[in-house]
Amino acid sequence: MSDFILETNQLTKRYSRRILAVDGLDLQIPKGQVFGLLGPNGSGKTTTLGMILGVVSKTSGSFSWFGQGEDYKLRKNIGAILEQPNFYPFLSARQNLVVHSRIKDIRNPDFDGLLKMVGLYERGNDPFKTYSLGMKQRLAIASAMLADPEVLIFDEPTNGLDPQGIAEIRKIILNIRDMEKSIVLASHLLDEVQKVCSHFAVLRRGKKIYSGSVDEALNSTHSISVGANNMMQLKQELSSCDGIHNMEEFADSFRLQVDERWTTAKLNKYLVERNIEINYIEQKRSSLEEKFLQILSEDHTARVNPPTPTAL
Ligand code: ATP
Repeated sequence: MSDFILETNQLTKRYSRRILAVDGLDLQIPKGQVFGLLGPNGSGKTTTLGMILGVVSKTSGSFSWFGQGEDYKLRKNIGAILEQPNFYPFLSARQNLVVHSRIKDIRNPDFDGLLKMVGLYERGNDPFKTYSLGMKQRLAIASAMLADPEVLIFDEPTNGLDPQGIAEIRKIILNIRDMEKSIVLASHLLDEVQKVCSHFAVLRRGKKIYSGSVDEALNSTHSISVGANNMMQLKQELSSCDGIHNMEEFADSFRLQVDERWTTAKLNKYLVERNIEINYIEQKRSSLEEKFLQILSEDHTARVNPPTPTAL
């Protein structure tokens, strides 16, 4: 039995002569991880999920589920939501789950348990058409869980949801993780990925440009916020410092992404020696968003179109 739930080896998809959507992708996802697939629009996330689920034909390369290859039968152990599944508008959540379980030939699913898990038990007998977008998405998760699969795959599970809806989905994903399932999710929302994922990979133009653990990524850089009486002078000094990757300007401080050379004490001393009167300095933990921007900016193989801050 493989230690990995999923391995891909040089997985490639070319849609046309011009469009190489996924380019030689190697991924290794161990059991129990919540794995985030990140990347700007069009970087190949959905195509990758489509290939590993067998709904998009690959051009070359291979993938293997549970160390057992690409066999369609292995799909029984994988629950996925690539796009909103078809639910009947006049049937209730419960009736829709019954229909889906029959289509998927799943015997005796725990409908009550699933409805409770996604917070739809109380509304489980109301028609689907009366549900909010968040409720519809939660029903889709229940449907993906019908066969009690070992792995769940989500493509942008919080797309279009409001903050409360996003928080509800996050809670469900964390519950699923606690049931010792493995999860692969593609998302634009870096903040969400930071909150739920243990590991992540970054795609850019179909190529993997980074992969690793979220904690390690966050610990490998850190941020320092610093303010001074003379912000112009401070800016000039900071601009000429080595080891500062990124400088974000606020009304009365700069937030710096620095490498391990810089601690608050060292920066304080450095600036004081240059006669800058510091009135505020504080170490901050980097966000995944900052790390992501750093990863993209260090990817010299590609032309950089900077993503927007929270949604790429
Ligand atoms: P998004 O976040 O916008 O959904 P993504 O990272 O999921 O993007 P994909 O949807 O996999 O990226 O698209 C990767 C590339 O493949 C894009 O250039 C896209 O236009 C192209 N593409 C996707 N599907 C098709 C298709 N069916 N035919 C032709 N090109 C396609």
